[in-house]
Amino acid sequence: MSKRQRKRFIAGARCPKCKSLDTIMLYFENNIEKIKCTECDYAESQAEPKVQDVARKNENVIGVFKPD
Ligand SMILES: [Zn+2]
Repeated sequence: MSKRQRKRFIAGARCPKCKSLDTIMLYFENNIEKIKCTECDYAESQAEPKVQDVARKNENVIGVFKPD
């Protein structure tokens, strides 16, 4: 499987399993939001509300465009 996927790390997110910081990766698979830890085998098919909140905040910072 070599599908192009958008993956990004969630700044400030801590892995609930190995407790590592900034190792949580967010990506979409079949339109389902998934998170995955790069340090251990932790994976969730849906991001925790807290994680989603952090991700959304980052998106807002990047994606603010006001067309005239
Ligand atoms: Zn982990």
